[in-house]
Amino acid sequence: MDKNVMNKLSYGIFVCTAKEGDKDNGCIINTVTQLTTTPNVVSIAVNKANYTHDMIVRTREFNVSVINEDGEFEMIKQFGFQSGKDVDKFSPESGHWMEENKSECKRAANGIMYITKGVNSYISCKVKESMDLGTHTLFICEVTDGEILNDVPSATYAYYHQHIKTQVEQVGTTADGKAVWKCKICGYVYEGDPIPDDFICPWCKHPSDDFERVFQL
Ligand code: FE
Repeated sequence: MDKNVMNKLSYGIFVCTAKEGDKDNGCIINTVTQLTTTPNVVSIAVNKANYTHDMIVRTREFNVSVINEDGEFEMIKQFGFQSGKDVDKFSPESGHWMEENKSECKRAANGIMYITKGVNSYISCKVKESMDLGTHTLFICEVTDGEILNDVPSATYAYYHQHIKTQVEQVGTTADGKAVWKCKICGYVYEGDPIPDDFICPWCKHPSDDFERVFQL
């Protein structure tokens, strides 16, 4: 099978936020699908490496902010490329994007944060059922609330790759001649050759298969 065939499926890209006690957190996911309209049920799959995953398991509630075509790579980095285990992602000290856009994060009626910039809408969800999928947990959820914020088209995952992620600087070979491998998902750079088979991207948690060798121009 040509594994690139899976790239022909269409996905969106979202900020998934949760709250547990005083802790707010969020991560980036590309798996939100409406399953039925009546009742309004969606599924999301969240990587277990995300601290937001553990919070949803315990609280069974979350919001999904739908990233639009104005979404910035800095926002993806803010929520996707650091762990809520280590930092408070909603603290202005936790990243450049949050420092400038703290006021673009608001609390929905369920008490959980959602994002208002680079996002066209959000939904609030309650978990009805979950299924262990190994690396991820699949959550089947009822949509309890939601709001449209603007009419900028939703970014597809392909749009993210073509237009948003390209804001990352291109890199070549290092000064001392080491090979450079770049994560196709998030842009993280690994130096050395070969990249180990079991290497996991520290930012987005994708495997070494998702790295490509970058050649000096
Ligand atoms: Fe990555």
